[in-house]
Amino acid sequence: MSENRRVGQVKEVTSLANPIVKDIRALALKKYRDQQGAFMAEGLKLVIDALDLGWTIRTLVFARSQRGNAAVEKAAARTVAAGGLVLEVPEKVLVAITRRDNPQAVLGVFSQRWTALSDIRPREGDVWVALDRVRDPGNLGTVIRTVDAAGARGVILVGETTDPFSLETVRATMGSIFAVPVARGGAEAFIGWTKAAKVRLVGTHLEGSVDYRRPDYRGGPLVLLMGNEQQGLPEALAQACDTLIRIPQAGRADSLNLAVATGVALYEARRHAFPLAEGDGA
Ligand code: SAM
Repeated sequence: MSENRRVGQVKEVTSLANPIVKDIRALALKKYRDQQGAFMAEGLKLVIDALDLGWTIRTLVFARSQRGNAAVEKAAARTVAAGGLVLEVPEKVLVAITRRDNPQAVLGVFSQRWTALSDIRPREGDVWVALDRVRDPGNLGTVIRTVDAAGARGVILVGETTDPFSLETVRATMGSIFAVPVARGGAEAFIGWTKAAKVRLVGTHLEGSVDYRRPDYRGGPLVLLMGNEQQGLPEALAQACDTLIRIPQAGRADSLNLAVATGVALYEARRHAFPLAEGDGA
């Protein structure tokens, strides 16, 4: 079968040396994700969700074995209609792109989407989660997923952080990367924004003076600020907080994992949004 043979609007590519495949493989590195303003997401369900949510697809890649699969063909048609490219590839190409032995049969390359901090105008009842210098892609992905599940508005990355569009982070979000707005800014810009936006800034801190179950989180917009995995919150950010809350601990662990602490505090802050209905396990 010849390289780059077109079947309808699908391009068949077999070689790892193909320039389009090379560009997609390069997305494993942040430098090239930034250059291309793109990222990849694996799995047909994720691709369909992203298309439904209006994300811009640049390329749909699917395994040869999926030829004739109605759902894949529909996603391919939507990609072409949106001006994107569709590639049919052998499994070895998917293995190389995803760096996985058992890759998903479908993946999409999408344009990155960032929310500008200055465009966030939180309203009464809104909760945002801010992460100070988050390092671990798994933590960031899990927080994005948790923000989605808890019905918070989005995530603000403060300072130098891991990339929300890395393959590892996107995997850990389980699709929530397409549902949760992500903004970024330096610590100073972030503090300035919290004042201008008149949000209540609640920091989580091992030495917080308030038990996390004490505050009444209802009312005005709230930002829950989480510290870096190794160092916790730096002084300047801790000082900017209206309240510093602490999650009590027993045992020998000196702290909770960042994503776990976010889940615990966020669900408490959003507790009123999930009132118990009659019959809920009563
Ligand atoms: N060694 C770090 C320190 O001294 O803060 C531990 C950081 S912890 C792994 C990462 C972040 O999770 C913390 O900065 C805080 O935001 C949150 N966190 C973890 N355990 C917590 C607890 N028991 N109470 C409040 N926040 C906690």
